[in-house]
Amino acid sequence: MTTRSETRTALDHLLTEIEHRNPAQPEFHQAAHEVLETLAPVLAARPEYAEPGLVERLVEPERQVIFRVPWQDDQGRVHVNRGFRVEFNSALGPYKGGLRFHPSVNLGVIKFLGFEQVFKNALTGLGIGGGKGGSDFDPHGRSDAEVMRFCQSFMTELYRHIGEHTDVPAGDIGVGGREIGYLFGQYRRITNRWEAGVLTGKGAGWGGSLIRPEATGYGNVLFAAAMLRERGEDLEGQTAVVSGSGNVAIYTIEKLAALGANAVTCSDSSGYVVDEKGIDVELLKQVKEVERGRVDTYAERRGSSARFVPGGRVWEVPADLALPSATQNELDENDAATLVRNGVKAVSEGANMPATPEAVHLLQRSGVAFGPGKAANAGGVAVSALEMAQNHARTSWTAARVEEELTRIMNDIHTTCHETADRYGAPGDYVTGANIAGFERVADAMLAQGVI
Ligand code: GLU
Repeated sequence: MTTRSETRTALDHLLTEIEHRNPAQPEFHQAAHEVLETLAPVLAARPEYAEPGLVERLVEPERQVIFRVPWQDDQGRVHVNRGFRVEFNSALGPYKGGLRFHPSVNLGVIKFLGFEQVFKNALTGLGIGGGKGGSDFDPHGRSDAEVMRFCQSFMTELYRHIGEHTDVPAGDIGVGGREIGYLFGQYRRITNRWEAGVLTGKGAGWGGSLIRPEATGYGNVLFAAAMLRERGEDLEGQTAVVSGSGNVAIYTIEKLAALGANAVTCSDSSGYVVDEKGIDVELLKQVKEVERGRVDTYAERRGSSARFVPGGRVWEVPADLALPSATQNELDENDAATLVRNGVKAVSEGANMPATPEAVHLLQRSGVAFGPGKAANAGGVAVSALEMAQNHARTSWTAARVEEELTRIMNDIHTTCHETADRYGAPGDYVTGANIAGFERVADAMLAQGVI
């Protein structure tokens, strides 16, 4: 019988090895740490999981593709970007996960996102494995024609590696409906196949699912509501700080308002907006999605209730709830201390790994309900899987039906995380609950399928 402390020592060795074998990938190390440090109880309690090689296989992607993406700008100058697709784990279904186009993208970032995705996708209860991809291309300030040429060049290599039964990319930061359209067009052209299920996040008129654009933000609010319910509270009348101003932030703000709460902030890399009356989501959509502008324009147009704070951190605005919806490591220990001082009740991650490990520990120690991204933001990929189901059946569901499924899935994820945390002696710890529950599902499938 392995004791917990023996298991912990073995996991520590493995973490050291991960750092050596994957140098200069701090985000991947951080994501691996965050999961492995919560697995000791389940490995000690269930000896089949301690089988040599299981966790070692789980932290090693099944396949990693890196490729050159050359493209010409509107002046005819040639640019060379780097493309990635990390196919992390397919024990539960085809690799599934988004593409991120952002200058910060490198292999370590894509691996951290792919690793998170494996557990997140398992938590949805649907048949999807985990993967992630992207490029260090920066779409900001680029014309539609430049973005189209980039996407076409990117897909000219990526198409060899994907397929509805193999690997199904979608959007992430910098990749929305416009990019998915160009990517899908090039895939169709190269393969001469109408293979709707090869990408998700498509337009509603050509194979996309209703509610997919809304799903990540809506799902995070539903998860936060479930955490509050557990504490005998609801969203009615609560104020929220939301960071970011992309797809996740916009639909988080929209759903908070629909459920009686009030989001008073949004942000981008230039600073944040605080709006006493609550963010006007239609104006934000106009500025960000139609005009592709910045949040200071929102503040200018909104009038006296809103003010733009250049370079500030959104977490300094007092609120009952915090929903980080921008990017990794955007909420550190100091920010967490500020939130706690201001009486925050719940923090729920719309982005992937937005809170640093120190921030998470501080929030949990202070009794704040903390929803980790792999549970709280799983609504996006869950509706992607529903989009695949609709594509496969050559049908499309009503918005009401998709939203009903999304609500059920988010509530189920909350219950699973909560019960799993209880079962392993960590009541109220959604990080442990999410990691162990996701791990159990993937690990069972990997054990059943042999050493591959
Ligand atoms: N990029 C999203 C995520 O982080 C969605 C992935 C998908 O829909 O495949 O989960």
